[in-house]
Amino acid sequence: MTITTEVCVVGGGPGGRALALALVRLGRQVVLLEQRTGGARAFRGESVSPDGVRLLAGLDVLDRVREHTHQVRRLEIADGGSRVLDVRFETFPYAYRHPVELAQPVLLSALADAAEEHGGCTVLEPASAVGLLRDGGAVRGVRAKTPDGVVEIRADVTVGADGRYSAVRRMSGLGAVRTPLERDVIWLKLPFPAAWDRRTYRVRISAGRHGLFLPSTDGTLRVGLNIPKGGLRELRSGGIGQLHARLAELAPELEREAAEGISDWSDTHLLDIFTTDVRRWSAPGVVLLGDAAHTLSPILGQGVNHALADAVALAPLLAEALDAPRSGRRAALGAAVLAFQRDREGAVRRSRGLQLRQERMFSLSAPPAVALRRTVYRALNASPALQRRVLAPAYFPGRQTGPGARPARTEHRTEQRTEQRTEQRTEQRTEHQTEQRT
Ligand SMILES: Cc1cc2nc3c(=O)[nH]c(=O)nc-3n(C[C@H](O)[C@H](O)[C@H](O)COP(=O)(O)OP(=O)(O)OC[C@H]3O[C@@H](n4cnc5c(N)ncnc54)[C@H](O)[C@@H]3O)c2cc1C
Repeated sequence: MTITTEVCVVGGGPGGRALALALVRLGRQVVLLEQRTGGARAFRGESVSPDGVRLLAGLDVLDRVREHTHQVRRLEIADGGSRVLDVRFETFPYAYRHPVELAQPVLLSALADAAEEHGGCTVLEPASAVGLLRDGGAVRGVRAKTPDGVVEIRADVTVGADGRYSAVRRMSGLGAVRTPLERDVIWLKLPFPAAWDRRTYRVRISAGRHGLFLPSTDGTLRVGLNIPKGGLRELRSGGIGQLHARLAELAPELEREAAEGISDWSDTHLLDIFTTDVRRWSAPGVVLLGDAAHTLSPILGQGVNHALADAVALAPLLAEALDAPRSGRRAALGAAVLAFQRDREGAVRRSRGLQLRQERMFSLSAPPAVALRRTVYRALNASPALQRRVLAPAYFPGRQTGPGARPARTEHRTEQRTEQRTEQRTEQRTEHQTEQRT
């Protein structure tokens, strides 16, 4: 079977689904392929940064997911048992200034439903892109495997939104430099400790080890525990008690929750951490976005936001180029994808830089370096202005440059109203979860 369309999007993660929605809203025809069914994904991208929340509002998707969001107000870093940094998100000068937790399957179905209601997007699911169609040197679509056989999708432009192990990137020969970080992360979920505030992201550091403790929308605590690269085997050899001990080192007060929540290794999930740097995000007829173009580390929850920002930036550029007369369309699309990379790569680079600096800070273990780290965090803690400058590339990358740098007054008021509704919803959810637990 052959399908002809304007844009073929490979991958139905946040980036691919958001792009499909943004394109159909601009009147374009899209075919989206997703290799899995149902959108179930454990431990994926639940933290959406304030900028991601703003982008979802811009796609008219925030209202659809609001009742499933959990708004976060503080980021607290404790080092060696003492609090060294306490960031209050309300001090940032934007209407959308709080991150939210939002389970990725909920986000994906909201994006998919919005695109379906709009019309113009055909979803093939499950369908796995296994080859590229070429015409001369240019990509002209993909070959996909489905339960009903092979389907060819012919398209003016193909988008690789197929994640950190992108097949489209590999098949189109767009080289990627993969840099493993020094540590991996074990993700797990625990019952939420009664004494902890549900609106706070916590980072706990002890010498060269650290863990992330994040409230989850299902009422549990999502924990990301750092271990040395490839160190899982050694940790496992000591039995599950060793994982409990590792947790206790960072959060001794969670002893009961750890015993209750983690009885064996199947309750954990390992994330191999690396960043991917792709020098050219496009080749004739094909362009990458999201993790396929720039895999980031999980620090400060950046991946979903950048995938959404890519989609929102790419859609109008492609839509305009597709309007060009057929004779000039290839050139127009070529110019559009280059403009897209120029527009987005600076923000991605700044986020990656901040993540790598954080990663290095967290891994310092020599006593003088640890003392210096604490001094740096305390200095940051003492200056809200410095906090804003340092954390802005992570939480507000879209507000750094360009027309969105400061919202106009009416836009600001709309944003404030939307944010207040999210806040009320979180308040209700938190009360409900506390009642259930007590
Ligand atoms: C354990 C874990 C925790 C994370 N936590 C956070 C967090 O809290 N906050 C945050 O911002 N980010 C987080 N991330 C990163 C975040 O999930 C990603 O950055 C984000 O999902 C990237 O979106 P994407 O659309 O580019 O790619 P993906 O979400 O990876 O989506 C790619 C899609 O393409 C599909 N696909 C792949 N190959 C093919 C093919 N050949 N044919 C068809 N379909 C294909 C895949 O099935 C997948 O659905 C986390 C990642 C992991 C692994």
